[in-house]
Amino acid sequence: MSSLDERAVSTATSVSIAKPVGPICNLHCDYCYYLDTVDLFARDERFRMSEQVLERYVAGAIAGAITSPVHFVWHGGEPLLAGRAFYESAFELQRRYLPAGWTCLNSMQTNGTLLDDRWATFIAEHHVAVGLSIDGHPAAHDRLRRDRRGRETHARVLAALARLRAHGVEPDILCTVNAVSATDPLTLYRYLRDLGVSWIQFIPVVARDHDGVVTAQSVTPEAFGAFLCAVFDEWVRHDVNRLVVQGFLEGLFVTTSGHGTLCVSAETCGQVLAIEHDGSVYSCDHFVDRAHRLGSLRTDSLSQLANSTRQKDFTAAKRDALPTQCRDCTVLAFCRGGCPKDRFTSTAAGEPGLNYLCAGYRRFFEHARTRLERMGELVARRQRPSLIMTELANAEASRERSFELSRRNDPCPCGSGRKFKNCCLMLRGLIAPATRRDGRVTSQSDVNTPASTPTVGDAGEAKPAPTP
Ligand code: SF4
Ligand code: SF4
Repeated sequence: MSSLDERAVSTATSVSIAKPVGPICNLHCDYCYYLDTVDLFARDERFRMSEQVLERYVAGAIAGAITSPVHFVWHGGEPLLAGRAFYESAFELQRRYLPAGWTCLNSMQTNGTLLDDRWATFIAEHHVAVGLSIDGHPAAHDRLRRDRRGRETHARVLAALARLRAHGVEPDILCTVNAVSATDPLTLYRYLRDLGVSWIQFIPVVARDHDGVVTAQSVTPEAFGAFLCAVFDEWVRHDVNRLVVQGFLEGLFVTTSGHGTLCVSAETCGQVLAIEHDGSVYSCDHFVDRAHRLGSLRTDSLSQLANSTRQKDFTAAKRDALPTQCRDCTVLAFCRGGCPKDRFTSTAAGEPGLNYLCAGYRRFFEHARTRLERMGELVARRQRPSLIMTELANAEASRERSFELSRRNDPCPCGSGRKFKNCCLMLRGLIAPATRRDGRVTSQSDVNTPASTPTVGDAGEAKPAPTP
């Protein structure tokens, strides 16, 4: 499925994330959160999942799944480094352990730089879903996503996209929102959209150094909120019918069912355990550390670990540890306090556990809520949520007509309560703000501009003021 209209009715499956080569990667992205986990392992570690661990993982994931399809996410590091023979074994094991009538869904999350024609053929033949990491246009992507020799990677990722498409595979796109990519949201979004992609997930980069200080590559809460608002406004007007933005789809799910499907937008954390190459099992891909190691597939079954008290406590803590500010928040149903990995700031009252991105989340959900709810109403009436584009275009046209018909002293059609001449007429540059002798710009409220006085328009050209 590709359009939001279709995905708005989709359901979740049983999922786990496996790391066939642990944190090993051929790139060295400046903001990567996973490379440091290499410190968890011995110096002579080979970082390859053994046949024995692979079999225990595949058998355990299928045994513990509640429903078909059973979703395996092959993650990294860079999962292509495991080689095609590894995945041949994995798929063979899946066939061996699957109950009759059940199916598996395999996904790979790749940086794309190793994806040659043989990989593309393999991926297409085995119906593997692909998540491809692209941080937008070259100027944004190549600043922070370089290989281990410091070389740019954008061109190689685009080549991978072309190869996949040549084999009939349309990847989902993962794009981080970081200090660089957040600076010009519309250019970045339009670039990805114009690549013809059908699914984008925007992932905020929030990383801290060993002293707990947020890194320079991280996005600020304000920039994150501004990014989401700008992209949403463009998407909701032009792209709902052809492009899914995962975070916006999650918002729509909240309006239709009261909860999101992703862990980050759900009340509690998910049961998406991270399985390291050596069989170690962790509570979550973002908590691969000693404190969150649940056990090992060498000694425990995946179900035992998933149902352990420690994992249940981890899962519930997302809800139970919410600070009062979140519990009282008007957008809690959408935000759910965000991912616990980012809850390291304090509320205005000094309570710990507030999400670093709080201001961004709040700004975005307050901004988008009305339109998400309208799309939810359309879904409830069994209409396509993309109809909102037509509704917005009609509303915009009608507002434009009101602007054209309004006179200077009429109430502004935008509903601000101010006179037209003191509001949108001035904001649109159709009437110049007055400038005081001291150089400060003031409201035009008591200044009468003669009809013949030229004013400066949007394009910076002199044009006559509208007739009063
Ligand atoms: S910690 Fe974050 S990424 Fe992990 S399960 Fe919870 S919400 Fe999801
Ligand atoms: S917007 Fe802020 S206060 Fe509201 S739920 Fe999210 S993190 Fe909590």
